[in-house]
Amino acid sequence: MPQTQPVLVRLPKGADLLAALKEACATRGITKAAVQVIGALECARLGYYLQDERRYESYELPGHCEVLCGAGNVSLKDGEVFVHLHLTLSKPDGSCLGGHALEGCPVFAAEAFLLPVPGADLARGFDEATGLFLWQVQAG
Ligand code: ZN
Repeated sequence: MPQTQPVLVRLPKGADLLAALKEACATRGITKAAVQVIGALECARLGYYLQDERRYESYELPGHCEVLCGAGNVSLKDGEVFVHLHLTLSKPDGSCLGGHALEGCPVFAAEAFLLPVPGADLARGFDEATGLFLWQVQAG
């Protein structure tokens, strides 16, 4: 029986942030949801989509950082749970940077809020106009 109520999840130390969120959803049968996460990472790897080149540029934050805000969603891509997450991170001096979360963000501590959205599954598919895998929704 899929989880239909909001759930709070503590993610395990050392786990990859995206993989841990995906597992938290998959084990609960959550395939469509809003995601919010706060906590800290041992380091981070983020992406920025270069619209003209239609590719992600990745960059790393080698040291510890706080997750001030992680905001995202869960849908299906190729039939599997896919977590799309953006992060605002702070460094020890309080300065911030952010981006599209990529694999390579090991959790130090993280608290996630998963808000399942009822209704039909939401699948991603390739969007020719942007070069991205976006939600495939019917117009109107
Ligand atoms: Zn993104």
